[in-house]
Amino acid sequence: MPVSMRPTVLSGPMWLRGKARHEAGYIILEEPKEYSLYDNTETVFDLADIEDVNGCVAFADRYGLLTHGSLDDELREPVTEWLQHAKMMWTVLRLSWHYRQACNGSEESLQTLTDVASPQLVRPAFENEATNTFEMMAQTNIAIAAYINQGMDGTQQRISADAEWDDPIEGGFRFIIAPPTLLALAYQQLGTLLMRGVEMRRCLHCDSIFVPVDSRQRYCSPECSGRARYKRFAARKRERESAGAVDAGTAEP
Ligand SMILES: [Zn+2]
Repeated sequence: MPVSMRPTVLSGPMWLRGKARHEAGYIILEEPKEYSLYDNTETVFDLADIEDVNGCVAFADRYGLLTHGSLDDELREPVTEWLQHAKMMWTVLRLSWHYRQACNGSEESLQTLTDVASPQLVRPAFENEATNTFEMMAQTNIAIAAYINQGMDGTQQRISADAEWDDPIEGGFRFIIAPPTLLALAYQQLGTLLMRGVEMRRCLHCDSIFVPVDSRQRYCSPECSGRARYKRFAARKRERESAGAVDAGTAEP
């Protein structure tokens, strides 16, 4: 490799987003513009929550395409692949969540890992079956790391200049992680959340996993909180009405 005195300046990972639409089985991006995602941790949850083609378009509108990488590529990706990526992220996120819950003493999550998640998602990666809970948990830990590494495929480490334009004396250097695609970025985010021990919860209404902004938060969004409140209200109303019907029935001579 020739040594150049004119290096290419890196500006951190840049992504493309624009107007997204669905056509003939493809998610297509039009009028793309570059943008950067700083300290975003929602991509992983938004990707895991995609259920259908409308979800793909909404995600592409917000963040761009999942795997396009370089600018020269055609800005279209098959919906079938998107749905597979979303399902995979959903699966790895739930496996990670149950693993953490089990580490924190949740019997329910330990049971889910033992009965369902480990046989399906962990066991195939190992030659020997776990013979006890400790081995099963260790294998799960290793499998989660392997899934995340697979998702982060092609990710590189770079050096970033930390200079402030108004205070160059303070400028330093730091390592940055450079994922090649939005998909790899989402897996990197999941890895970061797990490494930092960020609390994640499961929404009591829709089952989505989310990072609470407040310790009392039980639902992933105001919509879910509202729907759950309505469900409780409707259940109470039904209860009162059937109690009323019983009272009316017994009041008859
Ligand atoms: Zn929810």
